[in-house]
Amino acid sequence: MNQNKSSRIVAAILVVLVSAAAVTAVLIYNSKHRKPPVDWDKYTSSTSSAAQTDSTAPVDTTAQPSDTEATEDTTETKADDDTTVSVQNDPSENDESTSASAVSDGNQVTNPDTGRILVQVTDDNYKLVVVNSTREFPSTYEPKLAQILGTDKYLDARVAPHYEEMYNAAKQDGITLTPYSAYRSYDHQKRNYEGRASNEHAKGLSWDAAYAEAAKVILPPGTSEHNLGLCMDICNVYNSFATQPEYRWLTENAYKYGFILRYPEGKEKITGVVFEPWHWRYVGTENAKAIRDSGLCLEEWLEANNIAY
Ligand SMILES: [Zn+2]
Repeated sequence: MNQNKSSRIVAAILVVLVSAAAVTAVLIYNSKHRKPPVDWDKYTSSTSSAAQTDSTAPVDTTAQPSDTEATEDTTETKADDDTTVSVQNDPSENDESTSASAVSDGNQVTNPDTGRILVQVTDDNYKLVVVNSTREFPSTYEPKLAQILGTDKYLDARVAPHYEEMYNAAKQDGITLTPYSAYRSYDHQKRNYEGRASNEHAKGLSWDAAYAEAAKVILPPGTSEHNLGLCMDICNVYNSFATQPEYRWLTENAYKYGFILRYPEGKEKITGVVFEPWHWRYVGTENAKAIRDSGLCLEEWLEANNIAY
């Protein structure tokens, strides 16, 4: 009896000790792997009257078609998202010691956390609004969305009818412009971006390096046209799309419906994004025709025409 009792006490003590060790291990792990706070929302009350932007769709970049289409051509480049050419801003460089508020410099307002120009999206400027590696829109902006008929994709409500019109016109020519990725919310983009950074950090990179690495594949939130609902990735996100009849049809006809190839080949240094034959941006029919005829990318065309953006 006594022996039984003392064994039970010893067993109980062992359980307590093992539990304590487990809790300590978890605490140490958490303290080592905790992400630095990146407060994307603290500069959302911008009062800027400045500039421009664009948008996207509910696509999980962690579940891209690379899995399902891996048998296609595994040697070609596939983008998880709009793939940046170089990283000009490191959004992880937050200075937590300074109170973050938008910094105004003349007409331009800058996000102190990212160093990017904050642009506002309005009815007047949405067609030509520009977001890229140096320009972002505030997280408070949410486009009014409309569902693309017969799909689970959404675009800015001002753009959706134009996509449907283009889709139907292509269909009459025997071409199916399958919507692949449309609107993606700011928060969705943020999760993807930070998730990618976490993965890189887990591989041993510093947080700064991890965010920089993530930004090469996933545009930081507020810098993707998909977050604005102004663009559509059509059919797929493989470079081979440039050899497909759907792409040929788009290069010949998309402008009639107000869409341009936003990231053309050879303009990578200006757009900051690699050639994306699948990514078509709505700019309005008049602008689209002029931009297409000019052979310039959006940023160049705006500069050439002295259009402030
Ligand atoms: Zn895209």
